[in-house]
Amino acid sequence: MRVAAVIVAAGRGERLGGAVPKQLLDLGGRTVLQRSVDAFISSGLVDEVVVVLPADVLAGASVELDHGGAPITVVAGGARRQDSVARGFEAVSGEAEVVLVHDAARPLVTRDVIARTVAAAGAHGAAVAAIGARDTVKRAETRDGRPVVKVTLPRDEIHLAQTPQGFRREVLAEAIALGASGVEATDEAMLAEMAGRPVCLVEGDVGNMKITTEADLRLARAIVEGEQAGRGVAMPPRTARIGIGYDLHRLVEGRPLILGGVRIPYERGLAGHSDADAVCHAVTDALLGACALGDIGQLFPDTDPSWKDADSLALLQSAVARVGEAGYEVVNIDVVVVTERPKIGPHVAAMRETLGRALGLDDGAISVKAKTNEGVDATGRGEAVAVHAVALVGRR
Ligand code: MG
Repeated sequence: MRVAAVIVAAGRGERLGGAVPKQLLDLGGRTVLQRSVDAFISSGLVDEVVVVLPADVLAGASVELDHGGAPITVVAGGARRQDSVARGFEAVSGEAEVVLVHDAARPLVTRDVIARTVAAAGAHGAAVAAIGARDTVKRAETRDGRPVVKVTLPRDEIHLAQTPQGFRREVLAEAIALGASGVEATDEAMLAEMAGRPVCLVEGDVGNMKITTEADLRLARAIVEGEQAGRGVAMPPRTARIGIGYDLHRLVEGRPLILGGVRIPYERGLAGHSDADAVCHAVTDALLGACALGDIGQLFPDTDPSWKDADSLALLQSAVARVGEAGYEVVNIDVVVVTERPKIGPHVAAMRETLGRALGLDDGAISVKAKTNEGVDATGRGEAVAVHAVALVGRR
């Protein structure tokens, strides 16, 4: 049985506000629309997918769908939902025997729900995924300007329709023809009912929610994040990654003391192959670590003469470039400088500014804190400077 899915994303989602159509809002690293498309393609139950988009969104060419090689057609929608479904149906191939209609604003549809809808539509002509009412249902009327219960409906007879809704091809054609004749309906199943076709109910899924409001979007994001955390999946796009860096250099005579790109007046400086700027080195390692790109020693080996007395700000900038090549941008860094002497506090502002320039960030995203080691160990005895750093990066 050849199955087509028409995914309708024709509404503007005005209730969600904002300039971005709701189908294109981010949901755990993929758009709402992409998730809906992926649900059908990855189900293995669908041979072709037609996506119906608002004409202006389509014209803006702002939609890129990754379809993993599966046949997919994108068409412009119409004024009403049923017009959009009709446009989508026109683009379905002649071989499709069952056509599913799905609302793109339900991106969390499961394979099981799709499978039940396909099977029942194939067997009985029309099927709708629905969930039984769990709350008691009241029908109300308005009296004196107030809603008042008119009657309590028997809950076991109440089912809340979701999508997908599935139809044998000829049944959907009949429903669409009825819609085209001027009949208004809230979904295709209603048109099929009005055409006198029996519409089966199959078990939907509470998680197959429709994203209509900001609260829905927040809930959907929480569900997706929970699933991703539970599966331990690799970080999806637009999520954060964190890295840690550490460095220590000995304080010796006859060297300048450079920390965070700032030359600090002191009788000793840090020993090292480059300019030995332990702050830049720790931050560089934190950035590389956040993207799992190795460490400073691998990228800028001290056996390589080209790094002798190198400006560590240049190494840091090179790491920032690599982070960018990996598809991330730096969100913020936090640095702890551990040294007994000299006092770092007076130089913190200059270090934040210099590091901010190297990282392309406002100094509000750069934190530098100074600590002493209370006279304990080599750092406490003033023999070395140690630096800890963390960096957060995010997908662009
Ligand atoms: Mg170092």
